[in-house]
Parts: sequence; C-alpha cells; structure tokens
Amino acid sequence: SDHSLVYPASAEEMDWDPHYPAFAGSGKTPEFADVGCGFGGLLIALAPLFPDTLMLGMEIRVQVSQYVQDRIVALRATSTSQPQQQPKTYLASSSEEAPVASSSTTTPGPYQNVSIVRANSMKFMPNYFPKHSLSALFFLFPDPHFKSRKHKARIISPTLLAEYAYVLRPGGIVYTITDVRDLHEWMKTHLEAFPLFEAVSEETLREEGKGPILDAVYTSTEEGKKVERNQGDKWLACFRRIEVERV
Ligand code: SAM
Repeated sequence: SDHSLVYPASAEEMDWDPHYPAFAGSGKTPEFADVGCGFGGLLIALAPLFPDTLMLGMEIRVQVSQYVQDRIVALRATSTSQPQQQPKTYLASSSEEAPVASSSTTTPGPYQNVSIVRANSMKFMPNYFPKHSLSALFFLFPDPHFKSRKHKARIISPTLLAEYAYVLRPGGIVYTITDVRDLHEWMKTHLEAFPLFEAVSEETLREEGKGPILDAVYTSTEEGKKVERNQGDKWLACFRRIEVERV
C-alpha cells in the first residue's frame, strides 16, 4: 500500500534542490525518468555519460528506494574525496605549477545529477514533472502481472500513456524492455495505438547517437543482468513522442 506516500502538490512546487544540490538554482528539472528503477543500475550507468542531465529514479519499495538513495550518497562522497579529472583546457606554459581548474566553470562532480524518489509512478507523474520536461522515460523489466485480472496493474496502460505523453517533450523517447514476451506485446500494442507515440527502431536510435543509452537499457540493470545469467530473451521496444496528433 502507498497510503503513506507524500506527493508534491504540483510540478511547480517540486523543489529539486535537495535532490541535486550541485545544480541548485540552475532551474533544471529531471530529463530522464526511470520508472520502477529497482536497485538503480541504469541511473548509475547513465549518470557519468550525461553529467549535465538530471535523472530521477522512481521506486515504490521502501527498502529498495532507500538502498538506491544510500548508493547515490556513497558514490557522490567517493567521487568528491578523490581528485577530479579536469578537462585539459590549459595551454602548455613555462610554469612548473599544475593548472588548477576553476570549479565554477566545470561540470559538478560525478553522480550529482542522479537522484531517486520513493513514489508510486502510476499516480501523479505530472505532479513531479512539468509538461514536456522529460527527454527519456524508461520502463525496464517492469513487473509482468501475468494474470488478466491484474493487467490493470501494468505500468503501461491507455490512461497512463496520456500522462507519459504529457511529461515527455516532443521528440522524447520511451524505452521499454522485458524478458516476458506477452508483456512486450502488451506494451508495444498500447504504445502503437496511442496517437502521440510512434515506434522507432533500435537502428534509428543508434544512428541518432543513442547507442550508449540502449546498451545501458540492455545490460545495466539488476533485472537485466539476472535475465542474462538465465540466458533469457530480451525484448526491446522504443517509441518517440511525436509533435502533434496527426488529423
Ligand atoms: N527496472 C529495474 C531493473 O531492470 O532492474 C527493476 C525491475 S523490477 C522487476 C520492477 C520494479 O518496479 C520493482 O523494483 C518494483 O518495486 C517497482 N515498481 C512496481 N510498480 C511500481 C510503481 N507503481 N511505482 C514505482 N515502482 C514500481
């Protein structure tokens, strides 16, 4: 039950500064959302690849979300206690001294751009994310809810797709992957039927430079690794949020 969960009254009232202190005052909001992020493998893989992009995991289980929270705190601490790799922006000079990069001009340390909320993502997504603020939405190995009477519990449904289309910006991508063929067909069918989404092939996304994201989608999460150990299949389906509904 999620009766104890507290939600922001609206996206405008959501204060992201405590989540991303290094970006406080930047006005940035999360651009990547990992729905049912589990132990956070995707976010941890993507964070260093997109250091200026804020990303958020949503996870309903108390202990799992706490684990991810602790993992992020630890990663941030380890990363800042070690000397940061600075970009080599200086020119060779006669000075013997090592150049000191100005912290105001560099990207915040690793993992400053990643955070998690304990939330039921099937409720109040628009209370977290402003309209058209997300460029990527991830549904990786979601719970299958096999029985028909439980299908309404699935994280992709016509009602929820309207909310996902609202928070995603035109051009934004929905990534889904599962080892359950039936769930794959379900997600694909619903996304294809929804007027604001169009299927986009893995090949096209790779051509657009989203290869590193796809690689992480396939292999970075705990559930994805489990499927790999069991030599299960992985079914990927991706969709682009289109500009306007064609009439
Ligand atoms: N995406 C992760 C991965 O690939 O390792 C976790 C996959 S796990 C099978 C599904 C996760 O979704 C679980 O951690 C579960 O607690 C979470 N979950 C299920 N329903 C949810 C909901 N309504 N809101 C947020 N998280 C949810």
